[in-house]
Amino acid sequence: RADVALYEAKRSGRDRTVHQAGDRAAAEELRRALVGGELHVYFQPIVDLGGPVPCVTGAEALVRWIHPERGTVPPLEFIPFAESSGLIREIGRHVLFEACEHAAAWDRSEGRPLKVTVNVSARELDDECYAEQVHEALERSGLPADALVLEITESTLSGPGEQAQRTLEHLRGHGVRIAIDDFGTGYSSLSRLDALPIDILKIDRSFVSPIGPTTRSAPLVAAITAMASALGLAVVAEGVEDEHQALLLASLGCGEGQGYLFGRPVPPAELLAQVEPVAAERL
Ligand code: C2E
Ligand code: MG
Ligand code: MG
Ligand code: MG
Repeated sequence: RADVALYEAKRSGRDRTVHQAGDRAAAEELRRALVGGELHVYFQPIVDLGGPVPCVTGAEALVRWIHPERGTVPPLEFIPFAESSGLIREIGRHVLFEACEHAAAWDRSEGRPLKVTVNVSARELDDECYAEQVHEALERSGLPADALVLEITESTLSGPGEQAQRTLEHLRGHGVRIAIDDFGTGYSSLSRLDALPIDILKIDRSFVSPIGPTTRSAPLVAAITAMASALGLAVVAEGVEDEHQALLLASLGCGEGQGYLFGRPVPPAELLAQVEPVAAERL
């Protein structure tokens, strides 16, 4: 028995060592990718569903690792690791600065306000310097605070994080807006929703994708938009892939949408090409 226990202890110790070595190597590779300019920021349009023609109102910044051999590595393959290793702070800073720079340039070329939304991890908000970093990104780019939206998940808000709460309240006081991402998939208690420092609910794709060509109602979407409206929150539907979904969502009071129907995440120069035709039509 004692031998078995000793063996087990040794083995798990060795596994841990192997793991740690693997993690160190992976962290090193990710850091090299960041420094080497392999982490690019793509943008996916967000459109107004209310008008006669879908009009681009902004874009979500989504990070892409373009690896010289492996090609494009999707964020879900490295963000969790970036979070656990703490590298997310540097990656998040890079994405935030890039997003603000590009959005400020759109503002100048479009002559109308477009908002940019940036995903923020709990790990970043726990840092007491985070608000400072946002001010710096806004000042350096010249982007007005009300053109920036920070997306956080329900779990970020349900954690203990008093620091996160303070940071969000401070930034909202300066005009930055806060969205809850993937709304409806987390465990945020509805009783707290009223008290949270938020402006926007992004309805998770899992509520939108079941809407098929013959679906006439979507009770959960209807309930979420009704609740959002009662709370004075704006609603953005994620994962809109076809016309029928867009129409039904609009009829249910969903103000904005995002999804492959309107555009995939693309490099910044291509987003402007999507924005311009719409802007021209409105003249
Ligand atoms: P998210 O913030 O919920 O972003 C939306 C995801 O849905 C994106 O995946 C987008 O490409 C995808 N998507 C958009 N429209 C459609 C659609 O019509 N159909 C389908 N099937 N998918 C659609 P992506 O870019 O792979 O990002 C995955 C997640 O990685 C993001 O989910 C976000 O949680 C995280 N992420 C991405 N960039 C960053 C970042 O800079 N920082 C942090 N902390 N997380 C990030
Ligand atoms: Mg998001
Ligand atoms: Mg989302
Ligand atoms: Mg989502």
